[in-house]
Amino acid sequence: MVSHPVNDTVRLDAQDHGRLWRNFLVEISVVLLIFTLGAFVGILSGHKQLIEAEMLSRARAHVRDIVLTRRWNASYGGVYVEKRAGVLSNPYLKNPDITSTAGMIYTLKNPALMTREISELSEKDSDYRFHLTSLNLRNPSNAPDPWEREALLAFNTGLKETSAIITTGTGSQFRYMVPLLVEPKCLECHADQGYREGDVRGGISVSFDITPIQKGIEQSRLLLIGLTVVLFILLLGVVYLFVSKVYRQLDVALVKLREMATTDVLTGLFNRRHFFDQLANEISRHKRYRRDLSCIFMDLDHFKKINDQHGHAIGDEALRAMGKLLRKRCRQEDICARYGGEEVVILLPETALEKARTMAEVLRQQVAETPIPLPSGETFYLTASFGVAAIAGDSDEWSEAAEALLLRADRAVYRAKEQGRNRVVVERG
Ligand code: GH3
Ligand code: MG
Ligand code: MG
Repeated sequence: MVSHPVNDTVRLDAQDHGRLWRNFLVEISVVLLIFTLGAFVGILSGHKQLIEAEMLSRARAHVRDIVLTRRWNASYGGVYVEKRAGVLSNPYLKNPDITSTAGMIYTLKNPALMTREISELSEKDSDYRFHLTSLNLRNPSNAPDPWEREALLAFNTGLKETSAIITTGTGSQFRYMVPLLVEPKCLECHADQGYREGDVRGGISVSFDITPIQKGIEQSRLLLIGLTVVLFILLLGVVYLFVSKVYRQLDVALVKLREMATTDVLTGLFNRRHFFDQLANEISRHKRYRRDLSCIFMDLDHFKKINDQHGHAIGDEALRAMGKLLRKRCRQEDICARYGGEEVVILLPETALEKARTMAEVLRQQVAETPIPLPSGETFYLTASFGVAAIAGDSDEWSEAAEALLLRADRAVYRAKEQGRNRVVVERG
């Protein structure tokens, strides 16, 4: 009657389950964090690049205007303006002034002087300035500032343009500079100074105030940070709600699954697989702590006849009734399982042989006293044979305890059958 269990138990560990979900939540949070941060950084840098590109194109347009104006001036070899009061002559030209036949005096505004005068005008404008400068100056008042000096040095090594955002305590400025190249028209006046076409003779720098733009960027950055945090919290909240809902449903399903995996459907007792799982645990626990462990085998008497007489459905009903009785009578710590068709095994932890025998005797009486109803309204009674065996805590046979215990209880049932059924037989080790 005794056979070895197949050790294919589905282990459903609640702790593993909880850890799995916690890990999932942490992982999904990290993914969401990366996603929202990525979106934040992406939008911000895109926004910044767009604004910088806009500022650069504004600066280029300014420079182009200046270069065009210079070119226009150079195309006439400079232009003469009336030398009214306050109009100065260019001290770096040999003969800047001319007198008309009508006696009017005109002075020459060459591209360099014109540019400097426009530059001086722009100095009064706090929003936009430009500056014509060079490393080889004739006029020291046009000296480059440190940023311009660095740019001029870089132009000599081939740099075509440069820009920067300079932030000081009072605000931010966008600075832009291009090299000033010698054009063919320049040579008309400057060839004697050793100028050659394409030479870098200096640079034109423009700068304008971008404090309001920077403030706008800062504000939109703060807004974006706020939105990113809200988005992250919202996403996390949605995921958390969804996950916890799924988790609750899975928890219910898991309890049900665990119940199904360990319970016999007909009797409501544990199933055979669960019994063998628990047997292994109990054996090792009892062995470690040297405690008594008992086992009762129960086999219904002449059950085949019940089926034959009343039908299989009534037989099932009888098994159900026996299951109910055993579940009621067994202690919480006892492991009461349907071992086979009409056979039940009960493992009694921390129970000595004599106590197990008493328990079996109580069960035997109660089985015999439990009426099983028939559809006709009549009732009938069953009897069962019991085999009891135990392993004492101080025993030496723990190494083969499981085998020995079941074998002895099984043998005891056979003896109970032999002796006439409806009885308890004890098999001592
Ligand atoms: P014994 O007193 O020697 O144990 O005789 P028995 O008839 O109880 O033993 P036997 O092993 O010959 O027959 C067991 C019977 O139990 C056979 C089978 O029809 C019945 N049985 C096993 N499982 C079920 C079940 O789930 N439902 C029903 N109705 N009958 C079952
Ligand atoms: Mg049997
Ligand atoms: Mg039987």
